[in-house]
Amino acid sequence: MNKEDVTGIKQLLATPKKIVIVPHKNPDGDAIGSTLGLYHYLLKNKHNAQVIVPNDYPSFLKWMPGNESILIHETQTKACNALINDADIIFTLDFNAFHRTGNMESVLSESQALKIMIDHHQAPDDYAKYTYSDVSMSSTCEMVYHFIDILGDADSIDADIATCLYVGIMTDTGSFRFRSTTSTTHRIVANLIEKGAENAIIHNNVYDTNSYERLQLLGCALRNLKVIPESRAAYITLSQDELNRYNYKKGDTEGIVNYALSLDNIVLAAIFIEDRQEGIIKISLRSKGDFSVNEMSRAHFNGGGHTNAAGGRSEISLNETIEKFISILPSYNQALNHA
Ligand code: 5GP
Ligand code: MN
Repeated sequence: MNKEDVTGIKQLLATPKKIVIVPHKNPDGDAIGSTLGLYHYLLKNKHNAQVIVPNDYPSFLKWMPGNESILIHETQTKACNALINDADIIFTLDFNAFHRTGNMESVLSESQALKIMIDHHQAPDDYAKYTYSDVSMSSTCEMVYHFIDILGDADSIDADIATCLYVGIMTDTGSFRFRSTTSTTHRIVANLIEKGAENAIIHNNVYDTNSYERLQLLGCALRNLKVIPESRAAYITLSQDELNRYNYKKGDTEGIVNYALSLDNIVLAAIFIEDRQEGIIKISLRSKGDFSVNEMSRAHFNGGGHTNAAGGRSEISLNETIEKFISILPSYNQALNHA
């Protein structure tokens, strides 16, 4: 954001507005944390704010302050569309292209509201009046902190805002270990703890709520792990039957791909998860070093994301998707062996 943008946004937010805040479909910790963090900040400044998520999200994210106020577009479509059509401002957080909101794409692109994007993914679309896009940022939550700070309001960050923002920084940095974690990230996290974010409780709420079945599903995933040493790649599969066997619930597969990446000498990891209801294979790609899974996903799997973490999908069968993955690897062998 340049100075003019900051002045413009300050003017815009100087009087109470009707504001809708939207994250991407299948919202994760950063999506829910950033939207709720911004929500609390806007409420404090007398705005009429509402978080609308495209679809439901895992129960380990349902404890954050403000969670009870969230509306889900998939099940409360009419009420959500009315709010969107009536909004003065729509903040879009943790994504940068309307198609990432699934069925909300048309109502968002047709809405006359002024759009403000806050996001850290690559290649932003040009739909917002104000675009705050920075791929070097650890998380959208870190950007919401900067956003509030740039507006001169860091002092107004309270325990609710701090708690929500802490969640997204923690989850998007893999608990402060990914390369995107900077000294500034740590300074912000320190500030959030001082403002009242209870770090040990937050970590427990998000990560230490496993069910027995979820651990059995993890066991199944680890048994399915395959390694392709010549490409320094490893992948995991989960079929719909396997998900059903362990009573899969939203969020149960979160983070499993990282086990494949944790193997010694592996720089590319993938997980392929069958979703028979949507008729797709959901793909998560992770990498180490300079190998860009964002580019791989854009080129082959209809997705994108960041250099070291990207998502995608395929509309062929699970086996065909794995065959495709294996068949494209040799063309990346040189890059993978120098990553
Ligand atoms: P995940 O594998 O956890 O679903 O996603 C990894 C990262 O890639 C996240 O930052 C997520 O927002 C992004 N991502 C996931 N799916 C897609 C997609 O289909 N398109 C784009 N552009 N980004 C995605
Ligand atoms: Mn994010």
